[in-house]
Amino acid sequence: MNQKIVAGNWKMNLSLERSETLINELATFTVPSYASVIVFPPFPYLMMAIQGLSNRPIKIGAQTLSEHNDGAFTGDVSGSMLKDIGCDFVLIGHSERRQNYSQSNLQLNMKVHQALSCHLKPIYCVGETLSQRESGETLQVIETQLLEGLKGISKEEFSQIIIAYEPVWAIGTGQVATPNQAEMVHSHIRQFIQLSLFNDVLINTSIIYGGSVNSKNCENLFGQPNIDGGLIGGASLQSNEFSKIIESI
Ligand code: PEP
Repeated sequence: MNQKIVAGNWKMNLSLERSETLINELATFTVPSYASVIVFPPFPYLMMAIQGLSNRPIKIGAQTLSEHNDGAFTGDVSGSMLKDIGCDFVLIGHSERRQNYSQSNLQLNMKVHQALSCHLKPIYCVGETLSQRESGETLQVIETQLLEGLKGISKEEFSQIIIAYEPVWAIGTGQVATPNQAEMVHSHIRQFIQLSLFNDVLINTSIIYGGSVNSKNCENLFGQPNIDGGLIGGASLQSNEFSKIIESI
């Protein structure tokens, strides 16, 4: 069985005070032994989350990282800095960063290599826009994101990577993919990774779904054979909602 994952992306939300409250609530959570729970607070609250959740079963990740080691990159944060303060994971290729900062697959590939070299586990996000779906390009878009973004990754390194399928039209819109729509793409991603990236060698990658997941729709999504959990945005900001999602994994 692939590792089950529930990840919470806080994006650019919450104040210091509200983050502290949420961290204290998360510290009371229990997590099933077969699952991992990870939260991705904004940079200024990372240390507080790391300290507040140390010795608790919830891991911490950053929402992005620089593709560079160090140097004159004002505003950027390096993988080694994130590792130094106790992050274990990092989001790479979230559609909001692909779109708002024009991040290319080539740049994302550099970030994936940088994360791995700093011993951070990447959650690499892929997904199509509404117009790409409507013109029948979904699988082709995702294959390109996988091929280019994960170029040069060895089988050993791949075991550190989680894939998140996040259809852009479902993120923050309340318009969740149906379990069948998501399952179809997840099973294609799994086959593509095995056949096209690794010459038919079986790869046990966790593939999680993101896009308007909440406590009401999670069970049906997580019940699909190729959906190993979720990347949760809005619903991860409310501890009661997030705990119900974890319970359903
Ligand atoms: C996300 O931020 O990755 C996400 C899926 O957001 P939401 O759950 O709010 O759609």
